[in-house]
Amino acid sequence: MVACADLDCDALGWLGLGRHEAHVMANAGGVVTDDALADLVSARRVLGVSRIVIVQHHPCALLSPGEPAGWPLDPMDRLRASLLRLVQVPLFLPAHAIRGVLGGAGGLALVGPPA
Ligand SMILES: [Zn+2]
Repeated sequence: MVACADLDCDALGWLGLGRHEAHVMANAGGVVTDDALADLVSARRVLGVSRIVIVQHHPCALLSPGEPAGWPLDPMDRLRASLLRLVQVPLFLPAHAIRGVLGGAGGLALVGPPA
């Protein structure tokens, strides 16, 4: 799981998971940066991780407008951009094991991999 490090992003709680039920990599925004992608490759190869969930939320205190640079400003577009990066890596196929979650005051939105 890649999740935002913001305390308001309750990634494990939203998914009904306990502390030791998922490998969690946290960064600002929960976006799939180059570093996050490298960590996911290691998790796939070393730990045998077979399912990936990207957990982001809105509003996010760790992201100011335009940050991280190059990512869409719209929260759902930003989540989809992270998912798109994952499905472009053959190591992570099949894409049906990749999901996104956007949390916030309006509840949770689940997003599947891009077609
Ligand atoms: Zn956040």
